[in-house]
Amino acid sequence: MPFPYYRRLNRADQAIYRASDRIHRIDLPSPERCRGAVAAVATALAAERRADLTLACQELSDELLAQLEIEPVTVRVLAVRPSRDWGELQGLYEPAEDGSDARVSLWMRTAQRKNPVAFKTFLRTLLHELGHHLDYELLELEDSFHTEGFFKRESSLFHQIAGGKTSREGT
Ligand SMILES: [Zn+2]
Repeated sequence: MPFPYYRRLNRADQAIYRASDRIHRIDLPSPERCRGAVAAVATALAAERRADLTLACQELSDELLAQLEIEPVTVRVLAVRPSRDWGELQGLYEPAEDGSDARVSLWMRTAQRKNPVAFKTFLRTLLHELGHHLDYELLELEDSFHTEGFFKRESSLFHQIAGGKTSREGT
């Protein structure tokens, strides 16, 4: 069952949506090699050290994309999430343009109370944005839709790199 917005897509986009929806996981050849960077993300986020957090996210992203033989993205971590009428922006993916790498932006604190984002949420947001990159570069889809398949792929990556690691997940 596709999400309701599927019906508003044109035929070409519906075909892309269905292709995305069919793929449920992405297997990393050596997920254990991401664990060090995952731990560094947890530590830097808890300590609210933005420079360290940026480095850790970049390291994790580089490792994960290198394992899949995909072009790297530039990760940046900003202080406070922007809030809009419709809620808070979680993260942002901007595809590569001539001469510049694709870019992922993440926010360290929530807009409302300026609390640090929970580790699990933060890691999922990073994987979500990398998921858009993988849609284009690995799966070679012409667009990157939020399909059930997309969210399953995000979860599959999460469980591979953070599976069994609950002590630092927080709330
Ligand atoms: Zn998204």
